Amino acid sequence: MNKTITELQQDFRQLRLAETAEELPKLLRKAEQSSWTYQEFLEQLTAFELNKREIKSIEKRLKNARFPYLKSLTEFDLDAQQTLTKRQLTQLEELQWLEQHYNLILLGPPGVGKTFLSVGLGLEAVYKGFQVSFVTMGELLHLLKTQEYTHKSQVQMKRIQSSDLVIIDDLMYMAMDQREANLFFQLINHLYEKSSIILTSNKSPEQWSELMGDQGITTAILDRLLHRVEVVHMDGESYRMKNRQQLFEAEM
Ligand code: ADP
Ligand code: MG
Repeated sequence: MNKTITELQQDFRQLRLAETAEELPKLLRKAEQSSWTYQEFLEQLTAFELNKREIKSIEKRLKNARFPYLKSLTEFDLDAQQTLTKRQLTQLEELQWLEQHYNLILLGPPGVGKTFLSVGLGLEAVYKGFQVSFVTMGELLHLLKTQEYTHKSQVQMKRIQSSDLVIIDDLMYMAMDQREANLFFQLINHLYEKSSIILTSNKSPEQWSELMGDQGITTAILDRLLHRVEVVHMDGESYRMKNRQQLFEAEM
């Protein structure tokens, strides 16, 4: 009946409680020092394991999301983005649109913070337990076209298709051919009403149709994208240009 702590730790590992196994000697010491009741001890033990698992699952979702960088919306400067109110930003951060499978379309000229806002909202979603995928339109078209014969692309496409939130950055920076438009439609159709999509673009949806070519497919794609959508117009001067850093001071 009397197992050593090392043997107990092994049992914990066998039960797939590796984190708690490591912590066990410390937890036992604390229990003795603070005279925890049996129930208190169990509570501390389970809380420890659950907390570790939560952290691990956030880390895993973060890695899977493939964000280009990690930057929180607490750094979002609202003074620089006059078209977005504090209230709107808070509403977006609350993620009700995601729970209700709404899409978000972030429109505006280059440098106004569309990518930043999409990453910030994506991060928020990861912390709240959602599976997120970030992909640029260029990467996405490449994945769609190579998934048939490249295992790596197939794995990434599966991840995208099973996400709760798919962020497609820089839609329509170039024209699509018929095959690309078809593949893109299939993805949008797959995600429709199951997941949310954030699209960023510096072109308006009217201009998208010109770039997607085929009228039938364009209508079908827009129909699904715009069925449940919140459009956020972002405007103003480019944050990049306003805050650009100079390597060399202007010479006299
Ligand atoms: P867009 O995708 O609209 O072209 P980005 O999101 O890439 O613009 O923003 C360009 C740069 O300016 C990034 O480094 C971004 O972090 C920064 N930036 C843009 N808008 C803001 C803002 N409102 N507050 C803080 N940084 C911003
Ligand atoms: Mg961008």
